[in-house]
Amino acid sequence: MSHRPIYLDCHATTPVDQRVIEAMLPYFTEHFGNPASINHHYGWEAEAAVKKARETLADAINATPEEIIFTSGATEANNLAIKGVAEAYFEKGRHIISVQTEHNAVLDPCQYLERLGFDVTVLPVKPDGILEVSELEKALRSDTILVSVMAANNEIGVLQPLTEIGALCKNRKVLLHSDAAQAIAKIPLDVKETNVDLMSLTAHKVYGPKGIGALYIRRRNPRVKLAAQLHGGGHERGMRSGTLYPPQIVGFAKAVELGVSGMASEGDRLRQLRQRLWEQLDPLGGIFLNGHPTERLPGNLNISVAEVDGQALLLGLQPVMAVSSGSACTSAKIAPSHVLEAIGRDPNLAFASVRFGIGRFNTEAEIDTVAQHAIATIQSLRQAQAAMSSPSASRV
Ligand SMILES: *Cc1c(COP(=O)(O)O)cnc(C)c1O
Repeated sequence: MSHRPIYLDCHATTPVDQRVIEAMLPYFTEHFGNPASINHHYGWEAEAAVKKARETLADAINATPEEIIFTSGATEANNLAIKGVAEAYFEKGRHIISVQTEHNAVLDPCQYLERLGFDVTVLPVKPDGILEVSELEKALRSDTILVSVMAANNEIGVLQPLTEIGALCKNRKVLLHSDAAQAIAKIPLDVKETNVDLMSLTAHKVYGPKGIGALYIRRRNPRVKLAAQLHGGGHERGMRSGTLYPPQIVGFAKAVELGVSGMASEGDRLRQLRQRLWEQLDPLGGIFLNGHPTERLPGNLNISVAEVDGQALLLGLQPVMAVSSGSACTSAKIAPSHVLEAIGRDPNLAFASVRFGIGRFNTEAEIDTVAQHAIATIQSLRQAQAAMSSPSASRV
């Protein structure tokens, strides 16, 4: 294919930044050592690179390097946080609270724990996608051990009020975990200010490589206990065994460093591109914004389109743009997205939804091309639909 569609699916994954690749390359070849080899130079240089990366990641969320545990991504970090806390604190209590709009990598571990005898409350959100903190307060019980609320949603981009949630959890002495896979290096994150006790991170949503992530685990006030889920050589202070992967770790840190240093200007640029797209689509009418209008990731636009068939809409858009639909990403079954369901979209509108994930390498010209094609597609689908439903129009 000579002409590939414009990539606008940055919540699914992002291309690796060239500067990240360059930082990674020496760790495949010259500096190939195992950071756990403490007896020789090769191990030391790998360990030094890992140490530096750990510092960069800790700095990005205002943590300390000892509080960062490397994992294979946010899915593993979420599993480690939720199952690890459940196992370490089950004698204190067996109640866990999460939210309907969480990623499946949070909801599924919670469901798994429910089958083991834990009690899980999954809170609804307001129509704008934001959790009502007073609802959380009402749901807290004396046996609640963990609350898990994401920083930024992967479908509708909505940001949760972590500072308020963290203050409440700290006050009630309940641990707070936050899945920040979409938020890291895109919006400011501060585990001290927000009182988050565990935070899941990943590299590949922020122009780093796939297959690497981290879990932040608070060491002071309080010191969080965690039961390991992968046992072996005792790496990562026994919390996650398995040989560390220095090229990925170095790339992860480089990606986060680049994201953090350009956060303010890139955020403004992405907000402008999103606004540019929205201002072209909105005049069509029957276009509904999903999620809070401002409390959202800069590069996220999620819309539902009235009077079109969702499947036909996606097929029509596909030749020009790579976007995601409002149906569940669990490809085994087609169901409306659980996030759009949670904000109260009816199934037809949920199916006819498009998530635009605008990123670092998108340009204004691309946004205009995408807008024009989306407008043409929606108009022609609506005309076809109108012609079908009105017999007199069938001759036109
Ligand atoms: C992508 C994503 C995950 C999964 O992260 P991986 O690193 O791919 O395992 C988890 N949570 C959210 C919110 C995500 O966007």
